[in-house]
Amino acid sequence: MRVVICGGGVIGACTAYFLARRRIDVTVVERLEVASCASGKAGGFLARDWCAGSALDALARRSFALHASLHEEIGSWSYQRVSAYSGLVVPDADKRRHAAAKLNWLSDGVLIGAELSTPETTAMVNPHAFTSGMMRAAEQHGARLRHGEVTGLVRRGDAVAGVEAGGETIAADAVVIALGPWSLRAAQWLRLPLVFGLQSPSLVYDTGTDVPAEALFLDWQGDSGETIGVEVFPRADGSTHIAALSSQGPLPMDPADVRPDPDGLKATQAICERISPAFRPERIVARQSCFRPVTQDGLPLIGPVPGSAGAYIATGHSVWGILNAPATGEALAELIAEGRARTTDLTPFDPARLRPLDPDQVRIA
Ligand SMILES: Cc1cc2nc3c(=O)[nH]c(=O)nc-3n(C[C@H](O)[C@H](O)[C@H](O)COP(=O)(O)OP(=O)(O)OC[C@H]3O[C@@H](n4cnc5c(N)ncnc54)[C@H](O)[C@@H]3O)c2cc1C
Repeated sequence: MRVVICGGGVIGACTAYFLARRRIDVTVVERLEVASCASGKAGGFLARDWCAGSALDALARRSFALHASLHEEIGSWSYQRVSAYSGLVVPDADKRRHAAAKLNWLSDGVLIGAELSTPETTAMVNPHAFTSGMMRAAEQHGARLRHGEVTGLVRRGDAVAGVEAGGETIAADAVVIALGPWSLRAAQWLRLPLVFGLQSPSLVYDTGTDVPAEALFLDWQGDSGETIGVEVFPRADGSTHIAALSSQGPLPMDPADVRPDPDGLKATQAICERISPAFRPERIVARQSCFRPVTQDGLPLIGPVPGSAGAYIATGHSVWGILNAPATGEALAELIAEGRARTTDLTPFDPARLRPLDPDQVRIA
């Protein structure tokens, strides 16, 4: 069996790994570079039970366990267990009016509210290193990585028989659409529901050993009373990822054209400098922005595409794509190879649950 995976993000890389481990012939087609989009620019926070009570719970629990075992087996990326805390960043004038708990690496205006989790249930990976590491592991099991833009599908009757990429045809018995927010493009070729992208700017600091294994979910209160959520994610490799704002910029059709909004980055940097002396401007190693893939009901699409034998999709993981990639790849590999996902029930993520777009109405620049 030959499988072509469109997209070398975390979902494509993990799916390639679990297929290749079964000795299935796998080709990943990536337009830019592996992990060049959200999968390389995300925070990398993992939580075992923060999806409890939602349809994502089983996928998240299985993925959390797989992250630990994959790191033990392959381990070419940084992985550490962390505690997580909620808290408040208050304006300068308010500092003395609050008497709350503090973590000693934080500035005076950061007040810790609650311990949200312990290292037993939360962890951090470097998502770029994780995605690239999974792709390399897939290649060691025989998968191929091809650079090229997927521009269409090859069809044989109602079935999918391959992809058009970089001016060539790659024959396949099964095709997986894992193009992140660019999966919308595949709605021109297949009966797919809407997938869209939500943009966030972020900064990465080289903090060495100055930031302990403590993830923070802070509410920053501006001088005029507005509140912004700030996420501080320290990784074992000495980098700390901070994202503070979401913006609603339009998704450029070429992933290479994604650019951070300079005002958003400036505002994020100013917030970081209020949080800790560890976040000094000369320590910034990346100023970046990316789009996470989102669906209309907030749940991912994982499974067969209705009406096209051999076509599958795996996208729409929103804020939990790094966490949920391993169990997505594992279950999708089972579905493709054996006709049934055994390790995780994919029913809640069936693409058929949402109304497909009319391909003639999908306009891509
Ligand atoms: C700021 C931020 C922080 C985040 N933090 C976390 C976190 O802490 N924990 C967590 O679990 N999740 C987090 N996420 C979510 C996570 O990053 C995403 O859900 C995940 O990376 C999506 O992966 P993907 O493989 O679906 O898409 P992508 O990473 O977007 O990959 C899609 C790939 O397809 C390629 N492509 C596009 N068009 C074509 C084409 N025509 N032909 C060939 N290739 C093409 C692109 O170049 C890209 O490499 C965060 C997201 C953001 C934005």
